[in-house]
Amino acid sequence: MIDIKQLAELQKKSKNSFAEQRKLLKKVMAGNVVPCSVCKQPLFLITPQNSNKSNHEYSGIRCKKGCTDILLDFV
Ligand SMILES: [Zn+2]
Repeated sequence: MIDIKQLAELQKKSKNSFAEQRKLLKKVMAGNVVPCSVCKQPLFLITPQNSNKSNHEYSGIRCKKGCTDILLDFV
């Protein structure tokens, strides 16, 4: 079992990264080039419209290598 303190810490972290992801998304959608924090390749936006049909419904931002792979809800 996770104790309460750890859980609170975890929630704080995921909130922060959610805010980070929103920021990233805004930048990418605005047409800015945002490099992946890991491989420095530019991130690109994927929407269900332009995602591969062999892929299941997928939207988010990711880099070529896939080290950044953020799923987003567009609904
Ligand atoms: Zn990457």
